[in-house]
Amino acid sequence: MAHVKLISESIAWQQEEDRLAALASTAILDTEPEPTFDAVTRLAAEYFQADTVLLGFADESRVWIKSCWGESVCELPRQSSIFDMVLAEDGPIVVPDVSKHPAFEGRRFVVRRLNPASFASVPVRSHNGMILGVLTIFGSQPRRKMVVDELRMLESLADMVAGQLELRRLRKCIQERGPQPVPASLSKAKHWPAGSELRAALEQRQFVLYYQPEIELATRRIVALEALIRWRHPERGLVPPAEFIPIAEDNGMILPIGDWVLSETCDQIQSWNQERSGVEGLRVCVNLSAPQFSREGLADHIEALLMRSGISSCQLGLEMTESSLISDAPTALGVLGSLRRLGVSLSMDDFGTGYSSLNHLQSFPFDALKIDRSFVNRMTYGEQPLQIVRTIVELARVMGMDVVAEGIETEAQHHLLREIGCRYGQGYLYAKPMTAEAVTHLLRLPGRILPDPTLAAGRMN
Ligand code: C2E
Ligand code: MG
Ligand code: MG
Repeated sequence: MAHVKLISESIAWQQEEDRLAALASTAILDTEPEPTFDAVTRLAAEYFQADTVLLGFADESRVWIKSCWGESVCELPRQSSIFDMVLAEDGPIVVPDVSKHPAFEGRRFVVRRLNPASFASVPVRSHNGMILGVLTIFGSQPRRKMVVDELRMLESLADMVAGQLELRRLRKCIQERGPQPVPASLSKAKHWPAGSELRAALEQRQFVLYYQPEIELATRRIVALEALIRWRHPERGLVPPAEFIPIAEDNGMILPIGDWVLSETCDQIQSWNQERSGVEGLRVCVNLSAPQFSREGLADHIEALLMRSGISSCQLGLEMTESSLISDAPTALGVLGSLRRLGVSLSMDDFGTGYSSLNHLQSFPFDALKIDRSFVNRMTYGEQPLQIVRTIVELARVMGMDVVAEGIETEAQHHLLREIGCRYGQGYLYAKPMTAEAVTHLLRLPGRILPDPTLAAGRMN
């Protein structure tokens, strides 16, 4: 018996070693409190109407509170915290009424002033499944049992935290690897093209816009188009934006190029309006870069373009990434407010790849968020990546935003996204970016509904 105990103790010890290594790899205990985590606890407090919410990570002996709502506490001795119970359970613990739960008889919670009547605690796991911390909501009253959806919401918030930890771990890995030699292809790209070449390309009308449909997943109806720039280079052929937009952002050429994209898009919408090519209620979205926000008068400029082309503001959408806004968040907030008042719709692009701060999401007035392709790509790999997408969809729902999944390439992704309540999507499965002429044919389809390839395959058999 003693022998068995020794073995199990040594396994537990090994697991604890692995757990601490996973914790160290995120460097979460070395950092100051962060608004991202405060946004999670605040959202949990609001959603569950909890009196207190704590997010803590445990080392060998203590639980370090990285964010608290309704209480002010920095650390707790681990043995008197809920952490070890969640660890032992290897999952969530929900106690609707502490007074009726035998495990808590006579137990005192160590948090000052806190004498909870109910609580629910879910694990925050590392990329390899180790429990690093817990997110706990406390209530001063007993509550009814938690329904599945509520528990899922709490787990989704814990997954958001886990996503941040994973970003932190990867960042640390990259830093520790030190400066890497730049692959030849990249270093070449860095020097090409020069600003003068971009200017000449603009003058010689070598840029062209392609349009990619965005569809309602349930019906495959085209609800919007995204305008995506390409460079028809006389020698290099069709050059994708990744090869010149970052350079244009660095050398300032993004301003005239961005103006051209906006004006060309408005003109194209106007010409579709005139042709009556099935554009009723259709929005065309343009990507904006950071320097376009920092320049004075963006909203006035767009208003003038709308007037000139005679299109309605609801026919235009703007997409921007979170990182393009945060260098000067107060200014960005003002600009976005003016754009919203104009009536153009605003989408946060590539959600999940930047800071993914709930704070920004709450304070910036977005109509939609677009889930980055990398998450959609991984969602069929397993429960955790799927849970991340589910969390983003749920988050958008709670915040009253539309959600668009980017980069859908397979039917499996399409069905999973529908199952988890994602309403809109975009990807090669439905249509690649194409010329205005090609997309005009799609807009003329009855109801703008794209054919379902699985049905087509069925008919052929
Ligand atoms: P984005 O705004 O996130 O655009 C989506 C990108 O994903 C597009 O790449 C699109 O072609 C690609 N994509 C869509 N569906 C799929 C799919 O199923 N699989 C895969 N593998 N890719 C898919 P693209 O056109 O190369 O554009 C890349 C980025 O360049 C855009 O990302 C956007 O950030 C930027 N960009 C494009 N046009 C403009 C522009 O006019 N102005 C600015 N500032 N940036 C632009
Ligand atoms: Mg975009
Ligand atoms: Mg995107």
